[in-house]
Amino acid sequence: MAAENLAVSRETFDNVILPVYAPAQFVPVKGKGSRVWDQQGKEYIDFSGGIAVTALGHCHPALVETLKSQGETLWHTSNVFTNEPALRLASKLIAATFAERVFFGNSGAEANEAAFKLARYYACKKHSPFKSKIIAFHNAFHGRTLFTVSVGGQPKYSDGFGPKPADIVHVPFNDLAAVKAVIDDHTCAIVVEPIQGEGGVMPATTEFMQGLRALCDQHNALLVLDEVQSGMGRSGKLFAYEHYGIKPDIITTAKALGGGFPVSAMLTTHEIASVMAPGVHGTTYGGNPLACAIAETALDIINTPEVLNGVDARREQFVSALQKINEQFDIFSEIRGKGLLLGAVLNAQHASKARDILNASAAEGLMVLTAGSDVIRFVPSLVIEPTDIAEGMARFARAIAKVLN
Ligand SMILES: *Cc1c(COP(=O)(O)O)cnc(C)c1O
Repeated sequence: MAAENLAVSRETFDNVILPVYAPAQFVPVKGKGSRVWDQQGKEYIDFSGGIAVTALGHCHPALVETLKSQGETLWHTSNVFTNEPALRLASKLIAATFAERVFFGNSGAEANEAAFKLARYYACKKHSPFKSKIIAFHNAFHGRTLFTVSVGGQPKYSDGFGPKPADIVHVPFNDLAAVKAVIDDHTCAIVVEPIQGEGGVMPATTEFMQGLRALCDQHNALLVLDEVQSGMGRSGKLFAYEHYGIKPDIITTAKALGGGFPVSAMLTTHEIASVMAPGVHGTTYGGNPLACAIAETALDIINTPEVLNGVDARREQFVSALQKINEQFDIFSEIRGKGLLLGAVLNAQHASKARDILNASAAEGLMVLTAGSDVIRFVPSLVIEPTDIAEGMARFARAIAKVLN
């Protein structure tokens, strides 16, 4: 039977999909810029950006053009053969960052898995097989493979899957003294998100990040930054580490890298990369020409002063609209985050209403996200039109009014 003959709806989800998600009650079928339409033709403004992925909005003409032209040229070669889009994308990522070597994957978890394995391998080869301790943080999120979910600091995601990879220590985020108390010469890496995303939109302080850098240097450990959510322009700089005046050893990027096409990358230095050899790590699809061509176009557009400077202007529009809403409803204790990774924190009186507000927003024609039970998260397109922000915020105010009444 041809796929188009099969009628599907939100109810189908419960019958055919592994129940690890609880998607909204509508099914999006079309997107353009920061607007989305569902099966019934209802229109939504998208402040959720596919969880910080569609950084250039839906169906950006330049990405669609690349998808079509590369789609008619070459999709996949495997890593038995290299390809031009991967070589160009790697060269451009290196030119734009601290890095000198790139490994491509297909998801954030896969880039992080590569980063953590590299950190362990580097320590093993350069220092000692006992230098394997990874220091990570409470409320961190690094993906869902068993290694990455174990490095993430949320037992509710990592319990129940049998023995976890060992020698991973979790301490409170933004607490340098807590890191000092556990770091030693057996530590191979500190793994941190410059801005915790899933954990509640919490930026690291400058003192914390610079302190981590110094502690890593003192103990020959690598500073691994998970920029899967904070990278690719989201913070107003291409990568969030640029805000902190530090040079990391490894960063990972995914989400916005392909603007909606699955692709990820791990970036590191030549010296760290040099412990690797053919066969030590790999992935079939990593660096495939279709994904890399699209990511190259996304990078070309995002890594420009127009887009990066536009992030701060849009942030101001978001923050002032949220402050106005707060004057009216007294519902937020804080607006935090960097650039267009924004969190509106519900105050004590309204704590744990985040999911209700998300649902009410959808009813008003607005897609937002939560980050935990008391933070509303906004990760819109970096090029969202100011008129879409204004209209979306009007819908958001209506949603809040409904929840509070
Ligand atoms: C989303 C996310 C990941 C996981 O990425 P996937 O593509 O879902 O594997 C890892 N780290 C951070 C910081 C993220 O936000």
